[in-house]
Amino acid sequence: MKIICIGRNYLAHIKELDNDLPTEPMFFMKPETALLPAGEAFPYPDFSKEIHYETELVLRVCKSGKNIRESQASEYYDAITVGIDFTARDLQSQCKAKGHPWEIAKAFDYSAPMGSFKKINTLKHPDDIAFGMKLNGKWAQQGHSRDMIFTFDRIVSHISRFVTLNVGDCIFTGTPQGVGMVHVGDMLELFLEDEMALRFEVK
Ligand code: ZN
Repeated sequence: MKIICIGRNYLAHIKELDNDLPTEPMFFMKPETALLPAGEAFPYPDFSKEIHYETELVLRVCKSGKNIRESQASEYYDAITVGIDFTARDLQSQCKAKGHPWEIAKAFDYSAPMGSFKKINTLKHPDDIAFGMKLNGKWAQQGHSRDMIFTFDRIVSHISRFVTLNVGDCIFTGTPQGVGMVHVGDMLELFLEDEMALRFEVK
């Protein structure tokens, strides 16, 4: 499987990082080694002093496809959860300044913890999915899927022009505002609608 992440998909987050408004979805990838095994803590990496959380809805692909039309894209994913796109913001800033790829800041081991998936058609509000993350018991980020610049269908269609999607691939759909740092000892609790999807510690 592969993990594909959309960047800059919520207006308020684009503003907080002072980025330009995108005219089409922008994506990058993380390898399978970015998964955090169930029940384990996230090990704070030794190469960064500024690990940020980005709380995101994550789609799971249920049908393989390439050049998927936006009008048919909803057939290609059926499950959703919440995940963290961990980002070494200090390394990412250095990569951006040099015009280098971002992999060391985004694709490192355990950088993509994900909760348990739910079928989208079992959600209370599938057209406006509420999600969020509590850091040490307090809301750090809360988002709604209706605030996305690019819809799930647009994202799936766009990615599949360039990269074949396979069953089991996961797509992080971008973070709302409120990204911030984690520290050793922090507890993160991820919520999909009003249910906890994942809970883990930073060690
Ligand atoms: Zn992200």
